[in-house]
Amino acid sequence: MDLSYSCVNHNCSFPGANSFEMTFKSESIMDENNVASLFCPFCGNELILVRVPDVFPENLSKDRTI
Ligand SMILES: [Zn+2]
Repeated sequence: MDLSYSCVNHNCSFPGANSFEMTFKSESIMDENNVASLFCPFCGNELILVRVPDVFPENLSKDRTI
């Protein structure tokens, strides 16, 4: 399972059409609790963990936290 971290800052300066996102292969992360907090390089907001396989980002409510 891939782990994806997404910036949920509506004022993010990321130039892409969607939110800035970083994705890691699950095999590269032993335990998500061991991952240090990740921050968006564009706005400095803390990135929110999104689980990729089950839920597609476009189906998520913007105000919902997982
Ligand atoms: Zn951002």
